[in-house]
Amino acid sequence: MTDSSREPIISVLGHVDHGKTSLLDYIRDSVVAEGEAGGITQHIGATDIPMDIIVKVCKGLVKKEKISIPMRGLLFVDTPGHEAFINLRKRGGSVADLAVLVIDINEGLKPQTIESIEILKSYKTPFVVAANKVDKIPGWFGGQPPKKQSESVYKEYQNRIYRLIGDLSNYGFNCDIYNNIDDFSKSVAVVPVSAHTGDGVKELLMMLIGLAQTFLKDKLEVSLETPAKGTILEVKETKGLGTTIDAIIYDGKIKVNDTIVVAARTPIVTKIKALLRPNPLEEMRDPKKRFKSVKEVYAASGVKIVAPNLENAMSGGPIYVGGQEFVEQVLREIGEVEVINEHLGVTVKADTLGSLEAMLNILEKEKIRVKRASIGKVTKQDVVEACAIGKEDKYLGVLMAFSTTTLHDAQTYCQDNKTPIFASPIIYKIIEDYQLWVKKEKEEEKRILKKTVATPAKIILLPKHTFRASKPAIVGVEILDGLLTTGCRLMKKDGKVEGRVRGIQSGGMSVTEAKKGEQVAVSIDDVIIGKNISEGDTLYTFLSHEDIQKFDPDELSAEEKQLIKEIKEVKKQR
Ligand code: GDP
Ligand code: MG
Repeated sequence: MTDSSREPIISVLGHVDHGKTSLLDYIRDSVVAEGEAGGITQHIGATDIPMDIIVKVCKGLVKKEKISIPMRGLLFVDTPGHEAFINLRKRGGSVADLAVLVIDINEGLKPQTIESIEILKSYKTPFVVAANKVDKIPGWFGGQPPKKQSESVYKEYQNRIYRLIGDLSNYGFNCDIYNNIDDFSKSVAVVPVSAHTGDGVKELLMMLIGLAQTFLKDKLEVSLETPAKGTILEVKETKGLGTTIDAIIYDGKIKVNDTIVVAARTPIVTKIKALLRPNPLEEMRDPKKRFKSVKEVYAASGVKIVAPNLENAMSGGPIYVGGQEFVEQVLREIGEVEVINEHLGVTVKADTLGSLEAMLNILEKEKIRVKRASIGKVTKQDVVEACAIGKEDKYLGVLMAFSTTTLHDAQTYCQDNKTPIFASPIIYKIIEDYQLWVKKEKEEEKRILKKTVATPAKIILLPKHTFRASKPAIVGVEILDGLLTTGCRLMKKDGKVEGRVRGIQSGGMSVTEAKKGEQVAVSIDDVIIGKNISEGDTLYTFLSHEDIQKFDPDELSAEEKQLIKEIKEVKKQR
């Protein structure tokens, strides 16, 4: 058995366009510029920079003899271009040992920055902040440290960086500029960088090594002979190879012909046909030479796995080298994220297991209850279920789709049934839109109630016409006298007020009133049929003293006057 250490896995997070890709590109390019291109191993979905090269690139900032833990290098997980968001989850935590939180210093904290912070917090991942795009400060001189900039530029730089540090402290972090920090376990380092000029990149690498030494002492020791564990980054079609999976291997060893268990609704047990790594850039132009085949791969690694039956593999889910014995475990692991709760709540969909977990974490913080959470596109079945929930509680009968799409028939069903769907690649956008909708709907309800002029009416609950007993009750009624309007409170023959008319339906259409002689279905809030009121009961609309004052005696018919008098008599009994 060979034991060794692996590289720390580093994820790069942050708001879209704040410079995640550029920063990784700069780090790669600077290594290439040092004439060390051969030293970088391109992985699938990741870049591995060996320690020797980091030491060289950092030119004296990082001294190899001062590195107290064995570390082969740093493995940066690339942020996929088409995806704004990636959460590298594994059971009970994150695949990433460390993280770089990229923030555009000119823009500060944005929704995805905050989502990233929530993820880092919930997994307790140590991280540094790359305060990017310092070169955009007007007058900035690339290649010079902040203190060497002109006085006004330095002042502006300080303004921006301290504003950022202040904003971050609102999230419970003690942050400071990196060169003020000597204990990583107490503060989060903020490194001013530019992915364009390269300012601060060396310092950023140095901070990552510092973090690794502080937090990862024993965590990087791995047994190279144990079966591998990994997380699926992406499931994709690869020309000539069928469906393949790109995975990050964070533990052990994986080799061709190994049997693996792959996350899927029904976990896939399959055998590896090939393991692929990208070829160096110059050869990649030839599509046939984009990948090179390798026999085995050790953690930490990014690799493309070719195997039969991967079509239904679940992005963000686990992958284990081993057989049937892992099937239960994989199912349990998925079940810890995909949930169906007993209580009412919103319906949540997301594209990967990781994004679903992140979304659920944040919904819990926002105290939004979830009925069902699952991975995949929004289907008609999802909408049908949400719609049913909406009948119980309008505000929970909604769908939230994070980083995923809605199937056409589901979309149509949503429109036909007025089921709201909140979709975005940004969790906070979904939550904000939802909360705004709730607020507006509630205001509208209030407005309608205020507007209603109570009208005198006498109705009878028709026998055998209870469609629903409560929440709201839906019953068939006949208007015996007067005019029934929505919003009116109802009163029994003994003067007791019971419920309020929420809506009236006539011939399948929503209407706002029903006249004498009409038979309609009404929904009534705050009553239970068979308890407060029953089939066959005669009910009156409740008219307050003010309601009655509002009527103009000259406009009332004799019949109406008689009905108002009757209602007054009923009220008197109380
Ligand atoms: P990502 O979405 O976080 O991966 O952001 P990108 O790396 O794609 O960068 C978004 C845009 O910002 C691109 O146009 C970059 O050229 C630009 N950008 C990134 N980093 C810097 C920087 O340090 N300085 C300046 N001036 N522009 C930057
Ligand atoms: Mg990017």
